[in-house]
Amino acid sequence: MISFENTEIAFSGKSNRELKMAYRLFKLVGNKITVKIGKQLTIIALKLRLPVKGLIKKTIFKQFCGGVDINECEATVAQLAKYNIGTILDYSVEGKESEADFDIACKEIIATAHNANKNDNIPFCVFKPSGIARLDLLAKVSGKSELTDTEKEEYRNVCDRVDQICKNAYEANTPVFIDAEESWMQDAIDDLADAMMAKYNKEKAIVYNTAQMYRWDKLEFLKASHAKAKAGNYWFGIKMVRGAYMEKERERAEELKYKSPIQPDKASADKDYNSGLEFCMENIDQIALCAGTHNEQSSLYLTELMEKHNIEKNDKRVYFAQLLGMSDHISFNLSNAGYNVAKYVPYGPIKEVLPYLIRRAEENTSVAGQTSRELTLIMKERKRRKGKK
Ligand SMILES: Cc1cc2nc3c(=O)[nH]c(=O)nc-3n(C[C@H](O)[C@H](O)[C@H](O)COP(=O)(O)OP(=O)(O)OC[C@H]3O[C@@H](n4cnc5c(N)ncnc54)[C@H](O)[C@@H]3O)c2cc1C
Repeated sequence: MISFENTEIAFSGKSNRELKMAYRLFKLVGNKITVKIGKQLTIIALKLRLPVKGLIKKTIFKQFCGGVDINECEATVAQLAKYNIGTILDYSVEGKESEADFDIACKEIIATAHNANKNDNIPFCVFKPSGIARLDLLAKVSGKSELTDTEKEEYRNVCDRVDQICKNAYEANTPVFIDAEESWMQDAIDDLADAMMAKYNKEKAIVYNTAQMYRWDKLEFLKASHAKAKAGNYWFGIKMVRGAYMEKERERAEELKYKSPIQPDKASADKDYNSGLEFCMENIDQIALCAGTHNEQSSLYLTELMEKHNIEKNDKRVYFAQLLGMSDHISFNLSNAGYNVAKYVPYGPIKEVLPYLIRRAEENTSVAGQTSRELTLIMKERKRRKGKK
């Protein structure tokens, strides 16, 4: 049975100096107040054009991002590849609203697909639909509201961008993940994903949709999407995650007085996540799965299910994925044991990836008095290395 406790393997890619940096960083972001103040100060400093980019780049950016552009990510790609871990280049520019910016993002994502084709260490590419479409437009389409003529034109552009990305992914033979967003935008994305899978997944899974199992309706969705793929005779590609927008979802549902799409509790989300894994392994003859999770139990459970269903550890239909700078104990131990593992490696200009970095910092703040899992593991490894001296 695989163990995630081996910190020697988990941090084999980090020098003592890098481990110390990671220790300091996770200690800093572990404090809610520091993160809150740090977030405001950074936003103000960037607005005032104070020279803080260098500091951000050497610290939090270095931990969680690969570089400012594709070329700068090469070192990270090569470093992960040494440990048989693939890279998924994630152009993480957020919050854009103009057609011109969406076209730039689309071009950049297509470039990641072709870049992956030239590099065996990049097994997938990815895009966030909100990076190539206006949020309100996605929400309007999802809500089945009547679009104005201008919006219809705008949405045709969105569909075209999605098709261009998937077509290029197909031509570059690089599977592409379509990230999942907030529930009020997701129906439009799911429809687009279904259409793209029907078009490009005839021979194998090129397009992967994403299912957020913190939603109570997603286990059924998973089964229905698979049934559609079966009927249409194409591969169902799915990235399974728990979901990143829980608080926002609950707040909006309460405010607008509709039933929250989120599970009643964490145990229900965990249960559906694991049931989803079971379903995928039982139907692996027409499913390709990526388990995007930092949850040790689910990762372990997937390895057990693979064994139960006689699926080879390196079967390309099953991948594990984590984010760069997080849960190395899962990524490195899984890859060391022979499983397919890849890391999302976000990149982009520092100012533009700031929202992503702030989310990572906030995610790693801990409950008062408790040390986060990341920090505990880093401390364990530092102690182990000191003991060896
Ligand atoms: C490679 C990768 C790709 C990702 N892609 C996406 C994406 O496309 N879209 C997206 O939304 N997220 C995405 N995520 C983020 C993901 O959804 C989770 O937020 C994050 O990974 C934490 O969940 P976990 O499975 O790692 O495990 P855990 O740490 O065990 O679970 C935490 C998660 O459980 C859920 N949860 C916690 N408390 C409750 C509760 N009380 N009730 C119900 N649910 C609860 C929430 O989803 C929370 O994020 C991705 C993550 C990875 C690693």
